Amino acid sequence: MRKWWEKWFANPGFCPLCGSVHSTSNWGDIWDRLCPSCKARLHRIRPPCCSLCGRSWTSPSLCGDCLRHRSRDLERNVAVLRYTAYPKELMRLFKYRGREVLAEPLGEMMAEVLFEAGIRPEVVTYVPLHPDRMRQRGFNQSELLARQVARRLNLPLRSALQRIRPTLPQSRRSRWERMGALSGAFRLNPRSVGAVVDKRWLVVDDVYTTGSTLVECAKTLKRAGAKQVCSLTWAR
Ligand SMILES: [Zn+2]
Ligand SMILES: [Zn+2]
Repeated sequence: MRKWWEKWFANPGFCPLCGSVHSTSNWGDIWDRLCPSCKARLHRIRPPCCSLCGRSWTSPSLCGDCLRHRSRDLERNVAVLRYTAYPKELMRLFKYRGREVLAEPLGEMMAEVLFEAGIRPEVVTYVPLHPDRMRQRGFNQSELLARQVARRLNLPLRSALQRIRPTLPQSRRSRWERMGALSGAFRLNPRSVGAVVDKRWLVVDDVYTTGSTLVECAKTLKRAGAKQVCSLTWAR
């Protein structure tokens, strides 16, 4: 039997992802507050995962890709869920249709997964957009996610990185061509010089595809003296 306060709060609530009304507690964790339809269309990445890139893997060791091309700059990536059809649709709404309220539930999932993975950064930052892209879109989705993650984990958020080269169309490039194309794409924000040294950093991005962007960000932070750089993405 439910306790009286559980009944009290288990009023019809709104699913934080699709907005549909359903019977839920407004006080549970993020996964408890999702409607059954959203929950069924999201596939969380469960252990065992690759200990570097965070993909589902047969054992908690390095996956084939990471064994072949291991980055010494990015210590570890953690991702919440698989980038299947529904997460792609949500990301489209978030990035291109201005559904910025999604930052809150997505950020909550990310903070929870990072905490469960035992990663304890000291400072949070995000993958920056090139100023041209920022002007087009009006906001940086990774920055909004990072803000939520930092708030939930009670950590400072810093705009530590700047993108100095625009993103080139990458879809037909191989992983190694992308790495080359991205080399030197970021630099340290001059205002963050000194703040980086000897700290454990977390870089937040929306989606992990090849990892080349996050590796490049990690490299920039490591060169500036960061002690450790991990990354966190909503999907991969
Ligand atoms: Zn829903
Ligand atoms: Zn891997």
